[in-house]
Formats: sequence, C-alpha cells, structure tokens
Amino acid sequence: MQSDIAQILIDRTTIAQRVEQIAKQITTDLVGPEGHENFREELTLVPILTGSIIFVADLIRHLPLRLRIRLISVTSYPGTATTSKGATIEQSLTNLPTDLSGAHVLVLDDILDSGQTLRLVCDTLQKRNPASLRTCVLLRKDRPEAQAFPVDYACFDIPDAFVVGYGLDYDGYYRNLPEIVTLRPELIR
Ligand code: 5GP
Ligand code: MG
Repeated sequence: MQSDIAQILIDRTTIAQRVEQIAKQITTDLVGPEGHENFREELTLVPILTGSIIFVADLIRHLPLRLRIRLISVTSYPGTATTSKGATIEQSLTNLPTDLSGAHVLVLDDILDSGQTLRLVCDTLQKRNPASLRTCVLLRKDRPEAQAFPVDYACFDIPDAFVVGYGLDYDGYYRNLPEIVTLRPELIR
C-alpha cells in the first residue's frame, strides 16, 4: 500500500491539529459565550458515508457536546471512477429521521469537489425542517465549483487532484492510510 503513494499532501500530525482546531471553532459557534456545560440544544451530526468516517471519528472526540449521529449515504464515484458520476442517496444505508425540527444539523463530508453531494444532502435535510443547517468538509479542492460552494467549515484546501487516505478511497481501498495522499498515476484506471 505504501509503495502505491505518489505524494503525501497532508501528514497525520497536521490533520490531527487542524481537526481539533475546527472542532473548537464548531463548539464555540454553537454554544456561544455560555460555555458547553450549559448546551441543551439538540445537535445532530450527519456524516456522509463512507468517506467521512475517519474524520468524524476524530472530530467528535473534540466536541464536548451532547450530540447524536444520523447517517446518510451518497454514491457519486462508483468503483474505479475518479470523476463524479452524479450524486444519488443510497436509502439502505441512510437512517435520517424524516423530521429534524428543533435540531441543529451539521453535515460532514470528506471532500468538496463539484458540490453535487453536499447540494443534494443539504436540499434533502432542509426539507426536514432543522433549526439550523451547517456544513463541514475535511478537504476542499482548488476548482471553481468547490471554491464557490458555501461551506461553513473547510479544514484544508488542496490542489485539484484525486486523493485517498484518512477515509477517502479508490475502488474501496486506501481508506485506512493515515495521511492524505495521491496515488501513482499508473494505478488509476
Ligand atoms: P462532489 O459531489 O462534491 O463532486 O464530490 C464529493 C464526493 O465525491 C466526496 O464525498 C467523495 O466521496 C468523492 N470525491 C470527490 N473527490 C474525491 C477525491 O479526490 N478522492 C476520493 N477518494 N473521493 C473523492
Ligand atoms: Mg463521499
């Protein structure tokens, strides 16, 4: 697996530091000056499967808040695709309540590329009447569609390249790499 890596874009220490920093910012924005001990609002995190799982696992351990996790699954890069084939919600892996009234919802995704995935998810969630709806991505690509899409939190801006690791896959593999990397071009079909 290590020999498949072309370049390490973001190492594990840098990821860990930034995730902690974003978690603190999210917390401050939610709780305001009262402090998190008094936070009694309904907070619902909605990770987009599968790419966001490592990010979410690390992020929530820096969120000292009462929260719940609801999952949504979106497919846009089936199999060996390295460009989006259009986003669709996979109902079988999604456990979103139909009514989100009163909940402060934070959508979490691994990477913002064309924005199709987040647009689909946000449109779906908005119809369920949340008290607020925010978005957070680990990575944002340097391409006009991604830069123009309004997200509340983006941990890192990266070049417009296909990346894997820290949850992101190629054909289902490489999610367990602890760094964000590019693959040797001859491995990508
Ligand atoms: P968008 O809908 O914004 O075009 O793409 C978002 C989704 O496509 C992400 O949730 C992710 O699953 C996938 N994706 C986009 N760019 C990359 C990439 O560089 N590497 C990997 N592994 N997945 C990507
Ligand atoms: Mg995804």
